[in-house]
Amino acid sequence: MQRLMWLRTDLRTQDNTALSEAMLSGPTIALYLITPQQWQRHDDAPCKVDFWLRNLAELQRALARLNVPLLIRHCADWSDAPAQLAEVCRTHGIQAVHVNEEYGVNESLRDQQVAAYLRQQDIAWHSHLDQLFFRPGSVLTRSGGYFQVYSQFRKVCYERLHSALPACIAPLRPQAPLAIASDPIPDAVAGFTTPGASLRELWPAGEDAAQQRLQRFAEEQVSEYDRQRDFPAQPGTSQLSAYLAAGVLSPRQCLHAALSANQGEFDSGNPGAVTWINELLWREFYKHILVGYPRVSRHRAFRLETEALRWRDAPQELAAWQEGRTGLPLIDAAMRQLQATGWMHNRLRMVVAMFLTKNLLIDWREGERFFMRQLIDGDLAANNGGWQWSASTGTDAAPYFRIFNPISQSQKFDPDGHFIRHWLPELASLNKRDIHDPAALGGLFAPSGYPRPIVDLSRSRERALSAFKDLNARE
Ligand code: FAD
Repeated sequence: MQRLMWLRTDLRTQDNTALSEAMLSGPTIALYLITPQQWQRHDDAPCKVDFWLRNLAELQRALARLNVPLLIRHCADWSDAPAQLAEVCRTHGIQAVHVNEEYGVNESLRDQQVAAYLRQQDIAWHSHLDQLFFRPGSVLTRSGGYFQVYSQFRKVCYERLHSALPACIAPLRPQAPLAIASDPIPDAVAGFTTPGASLRELWPAGEDAAQQRLQRFAEEQVSEYDRQRDFPAQPGTSQLSAYLAAGVLSPRQCLHAALSANQGEFDSGNPGAVTWINELLWREFYKHILVGYPRVSRHRAFRLETEALRWRDAPQELAAWQEGRTGLPLIDAAMRQLQATGWMHNRLRMVVAMFLTKNLLIDWREGERFFMRQLIDGDLAANNGGWQWSASTGTDAAPYFRIFNPISQSQKFDPDGHFIRHWLPELASLNKRDIHDPAALGGLFAPSGYPRPIVDLSRSRERALSAFKDLNARE
């Protein structure tokens, strides 16, 4: 009786709950569905799709070492998933399908439909907790609701982690070879352009590459994380988000690496490791929010009253922001980092998101969508959470009157201008005082070829404050 492991955002062999459960219960084959129209509807970035394909190729080799063949099926979107899975099950005499849980509304609906369809044909469906430490719905307030405040959520998570630490799964042993050939992995999928070699080199595929990055970070950097993580010119953060989002790495592997760098402590000891574990819990928090408040999966504001906000329709300003031509160096440098690498430093994600939603008063959904179309680590829960935090429309969000000033953020977090000079060579000759605000140099002295700011920071700040105050007045 064969088992099917349906791979999605869990592209690894180590510490993979569903793969392990499938292999422990019988001979297993793996399946991946290529669904370009679904990916387009979800705004998945071409560099992310390319990262999935490159990881699939590595995964196929790792699975081959376990004698698990990897089948590839192509369909337009998830509406075809029930029929595709049923056909694979029929062809290979599969009795049970194993998956790791995913939490967006479309993902949940897809799984319900596939499970129901397979059950009609007497094929069992086993869904496992794997992406998170705790199953959504199991970390609740005393009155049984989902937490809306991160610090309260984190406190309960710590209590749970102290009493039962989620363990990594023991390495799998190869199964007896099956007479089933693996399918070729495509190099590209129509509709998604292949990124250039320089972007690909930044994000090498495969579990070994991910593990090396994790080990290096845990051994050499995590102890400095609390001091370095806000400075985009420093390699102060792990740059593991793409691997976590695609499931090339599990959160348990990350947690255990941080714990072993911190003598087994979560909430005491080295402040760098503790701060980093807190970030893993932010990731957890936003996925729980996705399940507890499914409206955020449908692009609705978490704080419904903010849906009445009068966002501006300003396509030229939106384009200037997207293309890194706002005339504010830190914003432009950050947007160019995003275009060139598929990734942006967390501090800068907050700064550019606040600038778009507050100074330009453009709807956060525009920013959310644009980020998703660019990011190699694009993840609905974290991206939506980050955008709604920055726009003050979300759970435990930044208060609307705390608006980052991109010039003072630049002075504080890129004090020598190294990050700006790297991404904006046209400003490279400016000294570390002038580089944050070249417009202040005045007409003749301002660098040629660099735009003037598209917006007055203090007037636009007032405009945002009054838009949010109007909202409060209407409540
Ligand atoms: P590290 O600082 O090393 O953190 C370790 C891991 O913790 C990350 O890899 C990530 O998985 C998780 N993490 C860290 N910070 C957060 C956070 N604030 N929320 C949720 N998880 C977090 N993260 C994504 O993974 N995908 C996204 O699409 C995404 N979009 C964002 C959009 C905005 C507007 C903002 C403000 C933040 C967004 N983040 C997103 C969160 C954060 O910016 C990235 O996770 C982080 O920059 C990734 O870099 P790193 O791996 O070096 O992180």
